[in-house]
Amino acid sequence: MRIVIAILMTSLFLMSCNQTDKLATQKEVKKEISKPIVKSENNSTMEKIVKTDEEWKAELTEMEYNVLRQKGTERSHTGDLLNNKEEGIYTCRGCGLELFASETKYESGSGWPSFYTPINETNVGENVDNSHGMRRVEVVCARCDGHLGHVFPDGPKPTGMRYCINAVSLDFKKN
Ligand SMILES: [Zn+2]
Repeated sequence: MRIVIAILMTSLFLMSCNQTDKLATQKEVKKEISKPIVKSENNSTMEKIVKTDEEWKAELTEMEYNVLRQKGTERSHTGDLLNNKEEGIYTCRGCGLELFASETKYESGSGWPSFYTPINETNVGENVDNSHGMRRVEVVCARCDGHLGHVFPDGPKPTGMRYCINAVSLDFKKN
């Protein structure tokens, strides 16, 4: 009887080890998925715009620098493009890359410009952001790495995603 119990205990132990291995593998997979998407149509990496902090400071206003380069957040309901209803393209205020189309902008009630999808997968990158004791997904310009905002899974159809973007990170090109 003791032997049977011993065998049972051993196999239980082994099973739980296996379980831990599985969990570890799942975590690895998740890490892979959350890598930023910086691919262009021909699958090559987008050519980056790299500038020193001094150069960015000289080009941007204090507020733009704080949000785009230091991942700050503008106060809600203060953005100049929050209530913009014109048709056109929202571009990166840091480098001019096209990021969001007006057709995908919607009223989320958050106080920040909200879109349910970026203009394409190439121009907008995503990074996992564990700051402020939260696990969020940061949204960045894929060309200059400027911080735009965060994406949350509580948006409208068809994607169910809410790209919550600082207006100060954006410029607007009317159609
Ligand atoms: Zn940019």
